[in-house]
Amino acid sequence: MRTDVNTLGEFGLIEHLTKQFSLQQPSSLVGVGDDAAVIDNGNFMTVVSTDMLVEGVHFDLAYTPLKHLGYKSVVVNLSDICAMNAFPRQITVSIAISNKYSVEALDELYEGIRLACEHYNVDLVGGDTTSSTRGMVISVTAIGQCEKELLCYRNGAKPGDLICITGSLGAAYLGLLILEREKKIWAEHPDIQPQLEEHELVIARHLKPEARLDVVEVFRKAQLKPTSMIDISDGLASEIFHICKQSGVGALLEESGVPMHPEAQLQAINFKLDPITCALNGGEDYELLFTIDPKDVDKVKYLPDIYIAGEILDAKDGVKLNTKGGKLHELKAQGWVHF
Ligand code: ADP
Ligand code: MG
Repeated sequence: MRTDVNTLGEFGLIEHLTKQFSLQQPSSLVGVGDDAAVIDNGNFMTVVSTDMLVEGVHFDLAYTPLKHLGYKSVVVNLSDICAMNAFPRQITVSIAISNKYSVEALDELYEGIRLACEHYNVDLVGGDTTSSTRGMVISVTAIGQCEKELLCYRNGAKPGDLICITGSLGAAYLGLLILEREKKIWAEHPDIQPQLEEHELVIARHLKPEARLDVVEVFRKAQLKPTSMIDISDGLASEIFHICKQSGVGALLEESGVPMHPEAQLQAINFKLDPITCALNGGEDYELLFTIDPKDVDKVKYLPDIYIAGEILDAKDGVKLNTKGGKLHELKAQGWVHF
């Protein structure tokens, strides 16, 4: 019998492949299922996360400068460490490359990796280099540190908690749509120069995302510990479902509370898309979604770039979106279809 991987979907496939594994080591505190694994090293917990980027699937070198790609491949991993409320410390980088890449091209990639290491104050401590028959694969592993009692998991949300979102959503997806559109135009009319300057913000959000390490630092200063947290890599709707499923709760999201940059809103309308759909289902924003105990609301109210966007409910209440028009919708998690 042959089962197509599409029948399971990404999360179903991960569950299928890993369900036979149980944790044996006392130091394996958390395994598969959160933004990062947690290893108990006594005083400090070590947090580990890994992500792979594949040419033609996760990036298109027609419009992705290699320096940006290097930077982004580090950032997406650091984002998972931040989502645990941990501080990233080290990375390893493994690459598979075909002979179409020159040393100069790889220097560009590594310049981006170096800039990310410098910006986030992490050390490159190893990796692997191998050949591929076609294209490039980059796999980054990030290692972070956190005190046990400060770690934030996906499973800690309680009914009554407030739902918070950092930064703004949807821009990275719209940046991607613009880059894809210009690539198509350019393929058909090579004499036409791409119109990119006027879309700088959304394109930058796609090509050069940042991990919200600054938010984790702010939490420490404010002595605030979210009750649950996840990074927004697949789209807000998908991440809310992860928190609800793992915490055994429901949620009410307020459309009016979901932060979007005006430029992203404008671009959504240009593409005849509903802005909230882009915020809910567009990916790669790398902002943080977290929940807080209502007693901490005063701590959060005065923090910069954090928006309260709803409330955690009982599981029986489901996962709902209250639109600006005052209508209640069942929220659907589309996320990204990879296969
Ligand atoms: P994220 O989007 O936060 O990077 P993923 O959705 O990629 O997380 O992965 C969800 C969980 O499944 C993580 O704990 C990850 O380590 C684990 N995982 C993903 N792929 C595999 C695999 N092939 N084998 C074992 N664990 C995996
Ligand atoms: Mg994650």
